[in-house]
Order: sequence, then C-alpha cells, then structure tokens
Amino acid sequence: MVNDKIRKRVEELRELIHYHDHKYYVENNPEISDYEYDQLMRELKELEEKYPSLRTPNSPTQRVGGEPIEGFPTVEHHIPMLSLDNTYSEDEIREFEARLHRELPDEEFEYVVELKIDGVSISLIYEDGEFIRGSTRGDGRRGDEVTANLKTVRTIPLKLRKKVPGRIEVRGEVYMSVSGFRKLNRERERRGESLFANPRNAAAGSLKLLDPKITSQRPLDSFIYNLTESTSIATPPTHFESLELLKEWGFKVNPYIKLCRSIQEVIDYCSLWAKRREELDYEVDGMVIKVNSIEQQRRLGSTSKSPRWAIAYKFPAKQATTKIKDIIVQVGRTGALTPVAILEPTPLAGSTISRATLHNEDEIRRKDIRIGDTVILEKGGDVIPQVVKVVESKRTGKEKKFSMPKRCPVCGAEVVRLEDEAVARCIGSSCPAQLKERIAHYARRTAMDIEGLGDKLINQLVDKKIVQDIADLYKLDLATLSSLERMGEKSAQNLLSQIERSKSQPLNRLIFALGIRYVGARGARILSEHFSSLDELSRATQEELEAIPEIGPRTANSIVLFFKEKKNKELIEKLRRYGVQMGRKEERRREAPLAGKRFVFTGSLEHYSRQEARELVESLGARVVSSVSKKVDYVVVGKNPGSKYEKAKSLGVRTLSEEEFQELVRSVVKSEG
Ligand SMILES: [Zn+2]
Repeated sequence: MVNDKIRKRVEELRELIHYHDHKYYVENNPEISDYEYDQLMRELKELEEKYPSLRTPNSPTQRVGGEPIEGFPTVEHHIPMLSLDNTYSEDEIREFEARLHRELPDEEFEYVVELKIDGVSISLIYEDGEFIRGSTRGDGRRGDEVTANLKTVRTIPLKLRKKVPGRIEVRGEVYMSVSGFRKLNRERERRGESLFANPRNAAAGSLKLLDPKITSQRPLDSFIYNLTESTSIATPPTHFESLELLKEWGFKVNPYIKLCRSIQEVIDYCSLWAKRREELDYEVDGMVIKVNSIEQQRRLGSTSKSPRWAIAYKFPAKQATTKIKDIIVQVGRTGALTPVAILEPTPLAGSTISRATLHNEDEIRRKDIRIGDTVILEKGGDVIPQVVKVVESKRTGKEKKFSMPKRCPVCGAEVVRLEDEAVARCIGSSCPAQLKERIAHYARRTAMDIEGLGDKLINQLVDKKIVQDIADLYKLDLATLSSLERMGEKSAQNLLSQIERSKSQPLNRLIFALGIRYVGARGARILSEHFSSLDELSRATQEELEAIPEIGPRTANSIVLFFKEKKNKELIEKLRRYGVQMGRKEERRREAPLAGKRFVFTGSLEHYSRQEARELVESLGARVVSSVSKKVDYVVVGKNPGSKYEKAKSLGVRTLSEEEFQELVRSVVKSEG
C-alpha cells in the first residue's frame, strides 16, 4: 500500500528535480552538485518502481525517454503556425515599417527584435500547468505529434513553475548546439554512420526518432518565443512582457531580445548580430522583428501565409556552389587516410575555400561524390566547410568515381580498414607522412614545446632521412642542422637548445606528446597524477586504468596497446638513453595547479590558437567550458569578445585579459617547479 508519507515524498522529489533542472539547464546556474542531483533522481526512480501507481507521465524520470512508439500522429494546429516573410536588406526592413504606417496611419510602433534560431519550430500545449502535448510545425496547419521526444528536452518544463490554470499554447524552436552537433557527428563518424549536414538537420532527425531513449541522448535544447494562446489567464498587452511571463513560468527564452523604439534601432541591432552570430554556440540564420503591442498585432492581422506584424531578416547564406577538381588522400599521425576534395576556390561566409574534408570512403559513397562534380558547400556549425550534396543536374557524364587507394600514397605500405572502423589506415610503421605528423605533435607548444621546429623543417628532416623516429631529434647536431635549407647557424643553435630543454618537460607533457590515441592534454594530466613515471604507466593494466576517473575503457585499451607495441617500447628506451625525463623528480604526488577550475574563452587571442589555449589549461588540470555561469572561475577575454564577456561581467565572474592569462599560466607553471 502506498501511504501518504511516500506519496508526499514522491511529490517533493519531483518538485525538487524540476527546480534543479530549471536552475541547471535554463538558468545555467546549478545550486547542487551532479552527485546530489543523481541521488534525488535515483530515490524517485526507486519509489516509482516500487509503487507503479505513483507514476505520472510528467515525472522527471520520463526525461530519459519512454517506450518506443509506432509513429507520429498528425495533430491540427488550433491556430495555424504561419511562416514569416523574409527580408534581406536594410531597405526591405524600412519598407516593412512603411507598410505598417500605411496600415495604421498616425500610430507609433515599438518593435521586439529576436535572434532567429535555426532549428525546428514546435508548439507546446499545457493544461493546468502540466505539459500534455507537443508537435512540429509541419505544413503550418497540421504537424506531427512528438510529445514523447519533446519530454526528453531538458529545458522544456514538464510542469510550469507558476500556477497557470486552463490551457496555454506556446511556440518556439528546438535546436542543437554547435558543440553538441560536432560531438554527435564525431561519434557517428567513428561508428561509420552517416553525418548530419548541419545542427538543424541533426535536431530535426532527432525529433523524428521512434525511440525516445535515443532522442534523450541527443543534445537538444529549446528557446520559446511566443505565448500563442491562454484560455484563463489574461495575457500581457505587449509581446515583450509576455516573454517575461514565459520566463517566470520556467521556459527558456533567448537572452538577446531587444525592445526597439525606432526602425533605425532595429536595423542597428540586426547588423550587430550579423557580425556577432559566430560567437554563439547555436546557429542563427537571421533576426525576427515583431510589433510589440499585441493590440496592434491584432489589428494588423495576417495574410493567408504570414502575419503582417512580423518579418524575418535573413543573414547572407553560409552556402556556396563550387566544383570538385580532384580528391586527394591525406595521411595523419595514426596513419588514418582522409579523402580531401580540392575545390575551385570559392568565397563562403567570409573566407575563400579551396578544400574540404570528405571524412571517409563511406561518406563519399553515401553522397555519391565524384571528381568533377558540382557540389553545395556549407559552413554548418563548423569552422570546416562540408560538402552537403552533389548538384546532379550539373553532371556531364565525365565525372570520375573515387576509390580509396590500396596502398599508402606516401610510403606505399598496405592500407587496411578494420571491421568496426570507418577509416582506412596505412599500416606502414615507417610511413613518412605519419612520422611528420607525429613529430609536429611531439613538438607542439602544449606538448614538448620545441620552438622553431616547424612543418618545413620537419619535411626536410624526414625526407632526407635524418630523422626516422621522434628520438632522432635528440641526436641532431649543429653541422647537420646548418646544412639544411634556410637554416642559419644562429637558428640552428636556438633549435638545439629548445630540443635540449624539452628533455625536462613534466611527465604529463611527455604522455601527451607520445600521441597515444584518445589521450588528450587533459587525459595526460590525469594519468600523470596517478602514475609517478612513464614506466609505471606502461605497466598499468586495463582494469587499473579504467578505475581512474575520466579514463574510459576505450582510452584504457588504447594505452595498453600502445605500450605493448614493440616499436613504441624501443622508442621509449631510445628517448630514455638520450636523457628525456620520464618521471616526477619528487615522490610527493601533487594536485594539478588549476585542478577543478573552469575556463571560458571569448574573442581571439594573439599568442594562442583556441586549441592551444584549451590544451594549455587542460594540461594544468583545468576544464574549458562553452558557456558562462557562476560556476566558471575565469573568462579569458581576447580581441573582439562576444556576449560571453558581458555575461561574465553581469554574473561577477572574474575576467582575464590575454596578458593576465599568460601571467596566471606562468605563475602556476613556476609553482609546479
Ligand atoms: Zn604510409
């Protein structure tokens, strides 16, 4: 029997979890640790399992996805979901204003300007504060009911935070963050699955999965931008105020909403975001301009297709059409062969693009990309342009199919493809292409930090067979170096002292520098805290490694395999003979100087690339996160900082200039000895 005490506890747990979900996902400002949160969730799950009669469709336990469904029933939109008229220029925005004045002469207008999120439009229905149904836009009159999948989106409240009697409908956008999209695609690439072209496709695909459990693992998020209907609550007189109300009810509303008093202000705000949109972790394809007064909206009404009181201003497209001149194959550090399209150079979102990765053979086959094809390129949520699709109508019949070479284009060794991998690899143990990449990695600033060992020099050293493995760097001498092209005695001398200095880099840098698969700067740091020397690490078993927090089975396996390999053993012995230090000097195990610290970077840095800056702080035990919250310790502000800077100021989070950041890094590196 379920007694009142248990019933009360279940309700209390749900309230608590709803509250903390809101703090964590919507406000980005958690109040309890992940551990404490998990404890609440576990208790609730156990009680629901023990007393099934207490289960409800809107319990937070439903966030992880219910049972698979058969299909998506069609639902009719009570109020049609109209689309907006698009504008592309300042003149067209002014024309919109002129039209308003013609419709309602002698009236003043206020505008609300919002970011146009590139996601999937949705409608959500609540009854007495409980989420009961959600659907996609569909054709505007009818859409698909996707309630079970929408429940897995953590920022969509299952229960409103205020008492809201009757029925309400809100509308908004479900989207995928750019970082979430990249991570998802990386995982799919590893598993040999087809890649999503952009975050919007990924979000739409995820909402249409028949198994909500899979949807729950997709990084979906939401912004709500409209209170469409409310049966028993008087709605505010302006759109701006209704957005405030939506926030109070617990919806996630985009923070960059601006109330403008003139069309010039509207235009300025639009051009501001045309420049700044790259700073966001989600895709924005334009701005939405709405008349603020609901009463004016009503009088303006709508055409059969779109409202007269709102328009979209679209940013210039991030797509371009070009031709594939050739497909070449690049060989990476681990021997992975990557096909790369050589393109007829074309401008795209501010830069000229002349090549694009095609990822792997399967991806080429799936999209049926051939040499000579005309293709559509897109910068979709990635700095790297992607080939979205082939324009088949432009085919002449002269296009050539591509197939992966059977032998490595650099060393001629056999190319193999493991069953569970999408990538083909050169297995040549002395492949110069792999060696060059490995040396470049070893020398990088965040690894052994050998300044002056650039790509051109590495090419010469490897091509002339002066350096045949990493350890050979330590036998270089002045005479050999000075004999190379463009290498004076002074720079040769400098390089030698850099190489010498690298011998005493700390253990974590050495581990990272060896280029063990899946071991990044942060992983190397963690390993260096658990093992006092490279020898100790090399003797660790799979189980021992997996027992370390943040080291998963895949990484553990990769480490074990690395140290088993005869060639690697020989390399390490050679490095040791040349005097490379392989353990900590002192016995005491020390915590990383920046352990537990969280960093956010915004704007461009003069002395580091983003990747380097990330690896640098990770090698000191810190973490880099993408958005600013009170949990962040430092926001490093470079040139042209984005909205993150303002957010940091408003939350009182410590900001650092690039110089201050360098000073901080210097001081902690020094304290490490
Ligand atoms: Zn090769």
